[in-house]
Amino acid sequence: MPADKNKGLSESEERFRTLVTATSDVIYRMSPDWSVMRELEIGGLLSGTGEPITDWADKYIHPLDRQMAREAINKAIAQKSIYQLEHRVLKTDGSIGWICSSAVPILDDNGQIIEWFGSASDVTGRKETEEALQRARDESEQHKRLNDIVTSNTPDLVYVVDINYKFTFANPALLNMWGKTWDEAVGKGFQDNGYEPWHAEMHEREIDQVVATKKPIRGEVSFPHAVLGRRVYDYIFSPVFNAQGDVEAIAGTTRDISDIKENEQRKNDFISMVSHELKTPLTSVVSYVQISKKRADQGKDTIASGMLERAGKQLVKMTRMINGFLNVSRLESGRIHIDHKPFDLAILMKDVHEETVATIFSHAFEFEPMAEIWVNADRDKIGQVFTNLISNAVKYSPAGSTVHVTCQIIGDKAQISVHDEGMGIGKKDLPRLFERYYRVKETEVNHISGFGIGLYLCAELVRRHGGDIWAESEAGEGSTFYFTLPIMKDGEQHRLSIS
Ligand code: ADP
Repeated sequence: MPADKNKGLSESEERFRTLVTATSDVIYRMSPDWSVMRELEIGGLLSGTGEPITDWADKYIHPLDRQMAREAINKAIAQKSIYQLEHRVLKTDGSIGWICSSAVPILDDNGQIIEWFGSASDVTGRKETEEALQRARDESEQHKRLNDIVTSNTPDLVYVVDINYKFTFANPALLNMWGKTWDEAVGKGFQDNGYEPWHAEMHEREIDQVVATKKPIRGEVSFPHAVLGRRVYDYIFSPVFNAQGDVEAIAGTTRDISDIKENEQRKNDFISMVSHELKTPLTSVVSYVQISKKRADQGKDTIASGMLERAGKQLVKMTRMINGFLNVSRLESGRIHIDHKPFDLAILMKDVHEETVATIFSHAFEFEPMAEIWVNADRDKIGQVFTNLISNAVKYSPAGSTVHVTCQIIGDKAQISVHDEGMGIGKKDLPRLFERYYRVKETEVNHISGFGIGLYLCAELVRRHGGDIWAESEAGEGSTFYFTLPIMKDGEQHRLSIS
């Protein structure tokens, strides 16, 4: 080859080399059958001296990828074509990296391979990102599969609604209830999916509430099922938050509780029937005892009179219990009517005070003096709440201790408190006291009779007046029960005094 041509060739090879070096992390030359790595130029990725070596595969290629690399090399040699492969390498710092390696065969005039010229780039960062992405994809696929299994096999209705009240997910049970396919139902609102306007409106306002308060809500609703007729459902709407902590959707679950309701109704009907049946003979017994006591008093039979007095007290207790059960059943079936009329709480409190001290002698009572507080409420029912709280204070505190009753205005409400010096209530029981039939399971309470309906009735009555009820207590430290009632505004009182 003439010297000029030789020089030109080596210059252009040099330029090519510079270009490849600039864009690659590794440059290498291999013997025709790849048995010897003739030269290696490294940019810190792989360790080596650049001297020819034969153990390059063991040194640089990750054991798990050697077979794959060998196959790709053999194929390239056989076809005299470009070799290209992405594989793992053992990096200088001992860690595992990824390279994208390519090599071109350099052929002589007879088309025989003289050597291979290759370059490789470090693609570890990209590979790691790809792997992380794949892992995330796998995980999300797995979540989706899990989700699908859970939501497909439950008889509960599971759905997601966006903040514009459009369904973005509905499980098979819900689609089945609607009698619709996914495509027909998803993306549609409540009314489009067959909800009656009042029902759609109610859920839309509840969604607004969840979005505004960021808190779940629970409700009960009755509406017709396509096949099963009218059913009762219990539902929970929970907020789904975005990265900024705002509510971006509402996840809902709805359960058909018609059977539970029906059982409850049967139980209530039974209790109501038994209570009614007991009431008639009890009323007769009460009057017989009263008449007998009168006769014993007239005949100066003090022993009989004392016994009949005690019998009378027990009968009052029994009547109160039976009335409690009757009230629960009336409440459950919506037969309790709240008769709103304006009255002064101070006068009711005075009446309650007089009745209490006239009938209960085991305890001392302190009723804080109070100014006029007018409320528009059912006087008898509020009187029952007072009586219930006071009799509980007496029941759950030792004889001789004091029961303290106050009433004051806080904001636009009257707040009544009944405090006792009794056994108190533990933290775990406090939130459940107002549930129907709930009783504290402490040994001290076991020997005190009761059915756990008094506080339930109080809570229902107070809530139906737009008030709240709660208790503050610690075990062994006495208890304070509070309830509030909305007070009448000045204007309302004024109108009242004119009329
Ligand atoms: P009952 O007294 O018939 O069991 P209530 O509904 O009136 O039913 O009360 C529910 C439970 O709350 C009671 O069983 C008792 O454990 C607890 N409780 C109520 N009032 C008090 C109180 N003043 N002090 C301590 N515990 C109380």
